[in-house]
Amino acid sequence: MNPTPRVGVLALQGAFGAHQRSLAALGVPSLEVRTPGDLGNVDALVIPGGESTTLWHLLGVNGLVEPLGERLAAGMPTLGTCAGLILLASDVRDGRSDQGWFSAIDISVRRNAFGRQIDSFECDLAVPALGPEDFHAVFIRAPLVEHVGPNVEVLAAVDGGPVAVREGPVLATAFHPELTGDTRVHRLFMDVLATRTGQVG
Ligand code: GLN
Repeated sequence: MNPTPRVGVLALQGAFGAHQRSLAALGVPSLEVRTPGDLGNVDALVIPGGESTTLWHLLGVNGLVEPLGERLAAGMPTLGTCAGLILLASDVRDGRSDQGWFSAIDISVRRNAFGRQIDSFECDLAVPALGPEDFHAVFIRAPLVEHVGPNVEVLAAVDGGPVAVREGPVLATAFHPELTGDTRVHRLFMDVLATRTGQVG
């Protein structure tokens, strides 16, 4: 039997503490990931919201671009939210010229384009994969998913635009599931992790 999978939260910038609290509410301890050594100690990773340009810069400064790219290419279960979704995308539009991304999920995103008129908003979202009750979703300068590849499952959409997507071990949301008390997105991520590592529970 596999040992209990270790979950990391990228802790360079942004809302990592709130993700750790959501995981803790599910009884899942998490490790803060800031270095390649930290990354080597985890089986799964949460990439939080924040600012994707800054996150990319800090990943470079901390020597994480290459090792994280390798782990993602090897299929590490990963949850990316907002800026985290941008970093996981395969095509980033309106990015900064020095900004990179990991191409871990086959989606095209446009930065700061979702709900252009109002930077931030909240709505109740139907997410059938999470059960019958709506999920209260908080959007903060969110990326707009403009295209999804054939193997990407759209878990939720707003006005036809995907806002929660999954491809294999990668789960990503344009909104911030860590900012409400609802832990169902994190629960789903733990289920993805369980199926990937042969763990039950
Ligand atoms: N607009 C941010 C970016 O481009 C993402 C915002 C967020 O993570 N809340 O990185």
